[in-house]
Amino acid sequence: MMIISVEAAGRDYDVVVGPLEHSRSRLRELAAGRTLPVVTDERIWSLHGERLSGLIAVEPIFVAQGEAAKSWEGLEQLIARFTTLNLDRSSPVIAFGGGSIGDLTGLAAGLFKRGCPVIHVPTTLLAQADSAVGGKTAIDSGGQKNLIGMFHQPALVLADVAFLDTLDERQLRAGYAEVVKYALIGHGVIFDWLAQREAAILAGNRAMREEAVRQSVAAKARIVEADPEDRLGIRALLNLGHTFAHAIESAAGLGTVLHGEAVSIGMALAFDFSVNLGLCPSGDAARVRRHLQQAGLPTTLAETGADRDALLPLMGADKKTEAGQLRLVLTRGIGEAFLARDVDPQKLAKFLAEAA
Ligand code: NAD
Repeated sequence: MMIISVEAAGRDYDVVVGPLEHSRSRLRELAAGRTLPVVTDERIWSLHGERLSGLIAVEPIFVAQGEAAKSWEGLEQLIARFTTLNLDRSSPVIAFGGGSIGDLTGLAAGLFKRGCPVIHVPTTLLAQADSAVGGKTAIDSGGQKNLIGMFHQPALVLADVAFLDTLDERQLRAGYAEVVKYALIGHGVIFDWLAQREAAILAGNRAMREEAVRQSVAAKARIVEADPEDRLGIRALLNLGHTFAHAIESAAGLGTVLHGEAVSIGMALAFDFSVNLGLCPSGDAARVRRHLQQAGLPTTLAETGADRDALLPLMGADKKTEAGQLRLVLTRGIGEAFLARDVDPQKLAKFLAEAA
């Protein structure tokens, strides 16, 4: 069992990477004798619900699977359930699922009675390595990704890689893209380390998966601590590939291309655009693309149904845009990402029109 402590915006919490059962006493302490609501979907509950309900008294609340959970209706229904259950402000709710359930539940918990604690028990690689940590919550609105959200740091995160054994291959690979991201931005996970272990991680080696999750979480924790609410340009590095990715997801129709798949394409594009601008050696971009392809991830726009003409306006609507200036995470090479604040929209438009 490994514990990573996060100190963000005056809130300290632990991320425990290891078997869920080892955290029984922590869960019981937070529950304080109450039955805790668990936000999940029917698939996750049928596969893994018993492990959670074997530890503490829980009441499952079912939401839609995947990205579809992140809607106004989903949020309204969830808050209505919290109201019916008469939760008080100190009563924790558990988010038991992937990043979509984490994002929705975190937002509902942050809003309900101006904030009640949320415990994340992530069940996808993406959520364990990335989304369950750092307090970003969101739903989609008006066809745009993550338009409505807030920061709400969790009370506890319990990442047990055994849950990943039932994840389908497409979801697993999509989650792996976020692990690669940490190797590319240069805050912890080392690209060569990952490149040597990619096959074992994807094939199900638990020790390697735990180590990949631990390294990703430790990297994220340090970044989040330095810039908890994404205002200083440090946390923005976590968005390597994401401005492209969110636009691809929206342009292809939310839920069509998985988030991690879009991130994979977005990272390949961020490297290519950096090469295009003379910032990054082309050999690094080629290595990144090869690694993503070997992991079975898409790396080109052609592999999505995204309408290219829609991409630039969607990228302009990104949350990183400030005073009309498009900001984009670019790179000087593997492990050397930086936030570019003065991206020329015309160069970007030309690049997007010509990109594979
Ligand atoms: P997801 O939550 O959208 O979907 C996961 C799918 O896998 C669901 O169908 C679910 O039923 C199934 N599933 C989950 N766990 C399973 C298991 N153990 N076994 C079998 N099936 C399982 O997928 P995701 O990739 O985890 O999350 C993507 C979302 O996370 C996107 O909306 C993205 O925007 C968000 N995200 C948020 C942050 C953040 O910092 N808040 C960071 C990255 C991504």
